[in-house]
Amino acid sequence: MEFIDTALLAYCEQHSTEESALLKFVSRETHAKVLMPRMLSGHLQGNFLAMLSLMLRPRLVVEIGTYTGYSAICLAQGLQENGKLHTIDINEELGTFVRNNFEKANLQDKIQLHLGNAMDLLPQLALQDIDLVFIDADKKNYSHYYDLVIDKVRIGGWIIADNVLWSGKVITDANDKDTVAIKAFNDKVQADERVFNTLLPLRDGLMICQRIK
Ligand code: SAH
Ligand code: CA
Repeated sequence: MEFIDTALLAYCEQHSTEESALLKFVSRETHAKVLMPRMLSGHLQGNFLAMLSLMLRPRLVVEIGTYTGYSAICLAQGLQENGKLHTIDINEELGTFVRNNFEKANLQDKIQLHLGNAMDLLPQLALQDIDLVFIDADKKNYSHYYDLVIDKVRIGGWIIADNVLWSGKVITDANDKDTVAIKAFNDKVQADERVFNTLLPLRDGLMICQRIK
């Protein structure tokens, strides 16, 4: 399900700063060679993530679900001079392509790729005072990821989760595991007094949360 008319979406993209040559390359190669290219953030959402990063000027970013590195490259745009982005993906086959993309972006010193299951790796990464977390891996674990990171996010820091409208299935009776998990995640965030949250209907829905206590 597309939430916005295709022509309007095209108009929005035509009036948003163009994708960099590198992001175009990542997108093209992903579509040509990698399974499920729809998972890549893409131009409009990528610009938005880059903009958030430029507004927040984070020192420490954690991404759960690297895929081909598109969103990581966007989220790294506003990193402070000594800032770091840690990104986790379970798909080891993507490692070489992703690392090459980070090198092409000249971000190899700022982005660290961790290959493995985020459920195992997140507790092992000794990270504190995280400024920004982007949750975009397996939907069934969204609530677990949220629980694993919230105490490590500094007060005032941000957690953003992608695909929280799940192609519109969140307002249907669909009871497949992913839909049920995304609905539970959205309800959990909504009930959590530690965060100030907005579900932004960009692309497939972004849940944007600021930790306020
Ligand atoms: N953030 C990317 C897209 C991520 S797609 C972008 O916007 O461009 C989701 C990714 O989550 C896939 O690459 C998949 O391999 C990864 N993933 C799925 N389950 C995972 C897990 N348990 N731990 C870590 N990564 C996982
Ligand atoms: Ca996504």
